[in-house]
This record gives sequence, C-alpha cells and structure tokens, in this order.
Amino acid sequence: MMATDEDLERRLRAIDGRGYPAYKSLKGSYDFGPFALSIDHVQGDPFAAPSQVSICVHAETAAFPPELFDALHRRVALEDLLLRRFAAEVARASYVVRGSGKSGLIATSVPGPEVFVRSACEVTADGAVIVRLEAGFPAHGRTIDARALDRMLFDLIPSCAERALVCDRAALASARAAADLADDRARARAELARRGLVAFVADGSILPRASGISCRPLEGAVPFDSPQSLRATLDLPHRGPTTGMGIPCGVTLVVGGGFHGKSTLLKALQEGVYDHVGGDGREFVITDATAVKVRSEDGRPVAGVDISPFITNLPDGSDTGRFSTLDASGSTSQAAATIEAIDAGTRVLLIDEDTSATNFMVRDELMEAVVAADHEPITPFVERVRSLWEHQGVSCIIVVGSSGAFFPMADTVIQMDRYRAHDVTKRVREVCSERGVVPAASSDGGDVLVGGRGHAARIGAGRGGAGKPLKVRTQGLDGFSVGNGSVDLRRVEQLVDPEQVRALAQLMRVIIERRLTDGTRSAQDVAASLLERVARRGWKEIAPRAEVPCGLALPRVQELCACIDRWRRDAGGI
Ligand code: ADP
Ligand code: MG
Repeated sequence: MMATDEDLERRLRAIDGRGYPAYKSLKGSYDFGPFALSIDHVQGDPFAAPSQVSICVHAETAAFPPELFDALHRRVALEDLLLRRFAAEVARASYVVRGSGKSGLIATSVPGPEVFVRSACEVTADGAVIVRLEAGFPAHGRTIDARALDRMLFDLIPSCAERALVCDRAALASARAAADLADDRARARAELARRGLVAFVADGSILPRASGISCRPLEGAVPFDSPQSLRATLDLPHRGPTTGMGIPCGVTLVVGGGFHGKSTLLKALQEGVYDHVGGDGREFVITDATAVKVRSEDGRPVAGVDISPFITNLPDGSDTGRFSTLDASGSTSQAAATIEAIDAGTRVLLIDEDTSATNFMVRDELMEAVVAADHEPITPFVERVRSLWEHQGVSCIIVVGSSGAFFPMADTVIQMDRYRAHDVTKRVREVCSERGVVPAASSDGGDVLVGGRGHAARIGAGRGGAGKPLKVRTQGLDGFSVGNGSVDLRRVEQLVDPEQVRALAQLMRVIIERRLTDGTRSAQDVAASLLERVARRGWKEIAPRAEVPCGLALPRVQELCACIDRWRRDAGGI
C-alpha cells in the first residue's frame, strides 16, 4: 500500500536536524488524497543538482473534460498549457524558504513559444495530470531543515499544483483556446499535404523577432500579406477561412534586395515545422514537418556519406562515394548535410545563401571557361536541384539575392520587397526567355540519385563503468557530450529549445549504451525506431535513472539524425 502524507510528515520529523544524507529516506510516493506526491530522486548535498519531485493530480480532481485530451494534438496542447500555468506558479514559490546552496529552489520547465512534448508535464489517457519539478531540499550547512521542507512539500508545491492544474473557469477557457488552436493547426497541416503545398504563411503573421536573442514578436513589424497569385484559403474548424501564401512543391526561390526580409521569411519557415502558442505571431506559419535547413558548416566531422552527386575527384584522392573527414570544408559540409537531410527523410530543403558555401551552390561560365570541368571536383547544387524535385520529389526553398543562376530552375519565385512578398515568377520567365535562357530542364535525366539510400550509422560502444550510465553534459543549444564523445550543434539551426538538446543527449546515450549503431543500420532507421519507442513507451525509455526527470523536450527524427551524423569521439576513441 502507498505511504500517506502522514507517513511523510512522520519521516520528516524523524530526520530534522540530522545530516543531509538522511533525506534519502524520504524517497517514495505518498498519497495526499486528491493527488500523489513522489520524491523520485534525492540530491546528495545542498549544492548538488536538486532533488526530483513529481505530483500526480488524480483525474477526478483535475477534471478537464475528455475532449481536451482525447486526440494526441489536443493532449499535447493541454500538457503545454498546464505546464505554462504551473511554471508561473512555481516561479513565485521558489526560494520562499532559505538555507545553504539550492535550499528552497522550486523549478520546472519554462516553455518558450513552441509547443513541445515535454517530460515536465503529462496528461494520462484517463485525465490525470503529472508534473515533474526540481526542488532544493533545504539545509543549514549540511544539517537538514525538515520544517522548511515540510513547508515546501505540504504547502508551496501543492498550492502551485492546485492553482495551475485543477480545472476552474479560467483554466478551462485557456485550455479550450489551446485545443482549438491545436485543431486548426492540425487541419492546416493536413491541408498542406492535400493541396501540394510545402508551406503556408497566414496573412497577418508576424515573422521577425524582437532581436537576435529574443523569440518575442518584433513590435511594429509589417504583418505578412500574401500575393494574390499564391493566395490559398484554408477552411479551419475554429478560425474559419484563413488566407495566406501557399508555397507549392517544387523549386521555390526567395529573391530581393539586401535587408528586405528574405532571411526572416526563411527563418520563420524553418521554425514552422513546430507548433507555436497563441500570441506568437507565427501560429499559422506552417511548414512541411520534415523540412530541414541545410547550410555549410566547415570544421564538422562527416562519417561515410556518399557526396559523389556533388563532389568527385578530390585532389587528395579521397573516396567521395563514402566520404569521411574530421574537418569538412564549406562545400563538402554542405554536400554532406544535403545528403544526410534526404537520408533522414526530408521532403523539403531550406537554403539561405547567407549560410551557404558559394562554390557549392553555383559556378558561372567565366569560371567554367578558366577552370576546366575535369579540374573542378564540384557539381554545384544548381545543376541538381531540378532533378532532385522531378525524380526524387524533394522540394527546395532557396533564398538568393545575388545570383540569377537558379532562375531557369525555379517553379515559383517570390520577391521580398520592403517586407512584402510578391510573386515574380512570370517576370523571371520573361527575362529568361528574352535572354534565350532555357528554363527548367533536369540536366541529368534522373540517373544521379542524391541521397535517399541511407548511410550507415557507425558509433562505437561507449566507455564507462559497467552498468553505470555514461556521463552526459549539455551546453544550452550549443551541443552536448556523452562519455568521451561529443556533438557540436551550433550550426543545427532548427534546434530552438535547450530541452531538445537535453533529450538528444539522452537519446544518444541510449544509442551508444545499447550499441544500436553497429554499422549495419542507417542513421535514419536507428533514430526513427528509438523515437518511436519513446513515443510508445514514454520518457522512461531514455531517462538516466528509473524515474523520469523534468527538462526534456521531444526532438524530431531529423535532429537526432543530425546528432548521429555529427558525433565526434575525443582523442583516444571509444
Ligand atoms: P535579407 O535577408 O533580405 O537581407 P532580413 O530578413 O535579414 O533581410 O531582414 C532585415 C531586417 O529587417 C531584420 O532586422 C529584420 O528583423 C527586419 N524585418 C524583417 N521582416 C520585417 C517585417 N515584416 N517588419 C519589420 N521588420 C522586418
Ligand atoms: Mg539574408
């Protein structure tokens, strides 16, 4: 039988004033009546990483109507909303009690503008609400202050849960709004596929952010307005008819002068793979969920990728059919990233010339005349982009301000002019025909496949104590290490939340510990099956301990592939 709140009270009294390790005796679950409180992990001392506590509010107490969590997308929206409410309460309750080190800390995930599946909040199939948090068990020096912990566990934390997680009128109204938005987003995504669009940008959307380090909408920004010829109207269940720009499948260029909003549009599109909360300005900026931003990343490692569609005959004689390096150049890194993205199942590549290697993208005639083709190892992207779409069904959205080389390849050309989008496809066709430039023919007849056959993931087994999990360290959005290997994620642009990185680090730990990459399976296969397992069985699949911690956000298969593909073992090897 589960221990009760009275048992917990008794245990607290028994350890008051004793040495810190006596806190370990509190581990376990306690029945508090309307909810259960679990002490999942107890910190070793007041300065160590805080203890982990979870609360499960029973379905009868939480009492949210089942239609708010009966479908996956609505359940995720409800979890997100409840977590935001809980985080706001927790911020107020933190450090109300004091002491040494982290004494009195109460913390949980604080979501940004995206809606993610997070370990900090789960709504179960029958409507119980589980929240996970961190708590600094209080002490003076190393002496237990059990009265202070009593206040945290019996007063502060339960009242946060009660205010945030129980369905009152205000909670119900915001939960309904979140569910309606989720319904509309889900419908919009379904419509995208049905209409042959790769992206949709609703009229009135606010694309720019307040600053490079802020994810808030820019105040006073020019709202998005779709050009007539690309206008699509989506009939959304709650919002009703919603107009915006539909970007069709195929090859799309975004052109325009410097500073006119091209990169801002592309950035909004690359983050449109995620759902955004109401008020963000990008609620209805929706991009094919598999879209991958591809860019150059010199210095990155590459392991066994066939970049020969783009690069052959390297001067050092290395095999570009199975290209490996610890220090890729601008062009080889972008070639590898392109192939890896296609291998990871993307249907849309997003490219900005600002972050591309020029020699990977284009080569002009004068250069061709001087450097004979057989001395140039690179077949530029412009020569492959057509067949990529026609023969492999991979669309591209490319920002180009400086070169017209892509004009003949384009199905759609959008010009950004003072933050306004114009459809200049016709004009581009006219200019091309005036100058005798032959439009849109795939030059290679589809006999060169660009990726799509997968590349083997090869990561050795980790070094670590037998049975002990490998040590995991993360650095914000920049990357992580597992055991004595690491991944640099600074150029993996679609990662937006540090909790995605924390989850990726745990996923990689599991991949290494379970030796899932023995060189026989592709990176995509390993990544997709592990993520599928987490979706089916829950966070415990990748939790470092038996109990699930807060602080993890579920990443896409594309970003897990990006980690496998960038794995670097430190000198000495694993
Ligand atoms: P480009 O890539 O065309 O050179 P950017 O997308 O980098 O241009 O945008 C240039 C600047 O204009 C950025 O500082 C951006 O925040 C701002 N900006 C972009 N879109 C808008 C908009 N709709 N309203 C107001 N400012 C914008
Ligand atoms: Mg730009």
